Amino acid sequence: MEFLNKRYLFTPGPVPVAEDVLLSMAQPITHHRLPEFSEILKEIREDLKYLFQTKKEIYFFASSGTGAMESAIVNLFSPQDKVIIVVGGKFGQRWLELSQTYNLDPIVIEVPWGKAVKPEEVEKILKTKKDIKGVLIQACETSTGVKHPIKEIAEIVKDTPAVIVVDAISALGVYDLPMDKWGLDVVITGSQKALSLPPGLSFIAFSDKAQDMAKKSRLPKYYFDLQREKKAYEKNTTAFTPAVSLLIGLRKMLKRIKEIGLEKLFKHYQILSLACRKAVSALNLEIFPEVPSESLTVIKTPNGLNTGELLKFLRSKLGVVFAGGQDHLKGKILRITHMGNQSLFDLLIALSALEMGLNLFGYKVPLGKGIKSAEEVILNYIKEEYL
Ligand SMILES: *Cc1c(COP(=O)(O)O)cnc(C)c1O
Repeated sequence: MEFLNKRYLFTPGPVPVAEDVLLSMAQPITHHRLPEFSEILKEIREDLKYLFQTKKEIYFFASSGTGAMESAIVNLFSPQDKVIIVVGGKFGQRWLELSQTYNLDPIVIEVPWGKAVKPEEVEKILKTKKDIKGVLIQACETSTGVKHPIKEIAEIVKDTPAVIVVDAISALGVYDLPMDKWGLDVVITGSQKALSLPPGLSFIAFSDKAQDMAKKSRLPKYYFDLQREKKAYEKNTTAFTPAVSLLIGLRKMLKRIKEIGLEKLFKHYQILSLACRKAVSALNLEIFPEVPSESLTVIKTPNGLNTGELLKFLRSKLGVVFAGGQDHLKGKILRITHMGNQSLFDLLIALSALEMGLNLFGYKVPLGKGIKSAEEVILNYIKEEYL
């Protein structure tokens, strides 16, 4: 029955968006140079500071997350600048490709996929090479589910001339990454993952140290030039036409985040990820990343299981969308996200689909065993939180 076909999005971007946020974006389009829009902009700028936990301005672009990554590079650096890049997955590779595109001189710390970088490795290079300009890293490497030790690395970078540039696209809003407190120089995010919005917006914030470095940057830039955005902000507007409807949704989402409070929001995602990992263990499956992020649960698929067919079946017949692995992890892992508008009960849908799907595709697990473990975690949380 087609009309009963519901879709359950458990992909690590895009993620489900709350209905009231979606509806807020269905208002008639306003003009971005009108005073009423300047007021909206003002609110957004303030509320973004709460999310980023910073006093600095946060700029945004009408682009996917990669646009803000490109903006970081072109605003900070000059050709041949040496940068350390942590490459332990698809998105670390993206830093590398971007830095090569702009003729930087990248020094790669190669981390096996599924492992987190050791802060000492960054420290070793920074100690021997004094002309490093930046350390480019992911907070959560979404392709493997790994959480990198950002706080520890920021601590090391702080006492050097380099800046730490954190791609927090799948982290900011899911777990604690206080920009000012930890001394993060550049923090980047996008709309369609941790921020629980549709795709199409990217965000970037610079510390004083990063702003000083930006003054000397000689890379070409136009749309992604932060100086231009800064001047526009001084007049309470944006340099170019902003994504008006998405910003209306953003305003609503940021208000929601403030109402809930970061601490409670982080706790919610922590419970979802903990409950999911417990369920996975109860089903005798293994978690892929050594240090798992709360943003998503990445499961090693058992030998012999046709993961591609399983994912396709769940997606096309049952409307449950998980993500598989990329590159050499294709067929080897399965990814279930907790980002976005996911309730405690949504996780049980994901686990139910997982248990049934595994049985259908030849990996026998006791039905309900994973769900039971997850429910125990969730029930404890409910008692703590609501009773
Ligand atoms: C999704 C993602 C990106 C950017 O992807 P876009 O498709 O450009 O939004 C970058 N880094 C991480 C860690 C991501 O998860």
